[in-house]
Amino acid sequence: MLKIHKIISGNLEENCYVIYDSKTLNSMIIDPGENGHQIISEIKKNGFKPEIIINTHGHYDHIFSDDKIRSEFKIPLAIHKNETSMLYDTYKNGSKIFGSPLIIKKPDILFEFEQKVKLSFATFKVIHTPGHTKGSICLLFKNFLITGDTIFAGTIGRTDLYDGNNEEMMKSIFKLKMIKPSNVDIYPGHGQKTNLSNELKYNVYLK
Ligand SMILES: [Zn+2]
Ligand SMILES: [Zn+2]
Repeated sequence: MLKIHKIISGNLEENCYVIYDSKTLNSMIIDPGENGHQIISEIKKNGFKPEIIINTHGHYDHIFSDDKIRSEFKIPLAIHKNETSMLYDTYKNGSKIFGSPLIIKKPDILFEFEQKVKLSFATFKVIHTPGHTKGSICLLFKNFLITGDTIFAGTIGRTDLYDGNNEEMMKSIFKLKMIKPSNVDIYPGHGQKTNLSNELKYNVYLK
């Protein structure tokens, strides 16, 4: 059975999720934020065995500890192909204005199409959801959805940053609204978890 362990990082309170199999402890790391040291120690303390890091998008608060964790556990980094330049560009990833320019090494895996990904312990679908950034993705598992900065509880992600696009965002939101069954839980990149049926009822951007 898949379970989710959350580690919050930094001033922006970014959510890193470790998704793991409760029996084998095989796991994946979504968006390792600024607190890499804590993420590593919690992974070790819980005995999680990470297989891959996935970035929902390339903003610095979501990619901050990519390289630290990659070298600690010797695992690949995956991101959407439209998002790669964010990893290397301190203006695009937003790190420059925070005074500590961040450059991440080349990713190992690029998502390109809407694709199913099979890990040793889980299968999920990569949904391309541009809008917050060009290469933002959501990850759909059997009964939950990882949304990065595309959907939050009660609102959606901003589209006024580099490569943001409001029209694209609305198309992406429409795509997510069509997910069936709609009772999937939503784990966003910031804030509390929610679920899709709740957002369809109360989130003004999804109603
Ligand atoms: Zn973002
Ligand atoms: Zn964010």
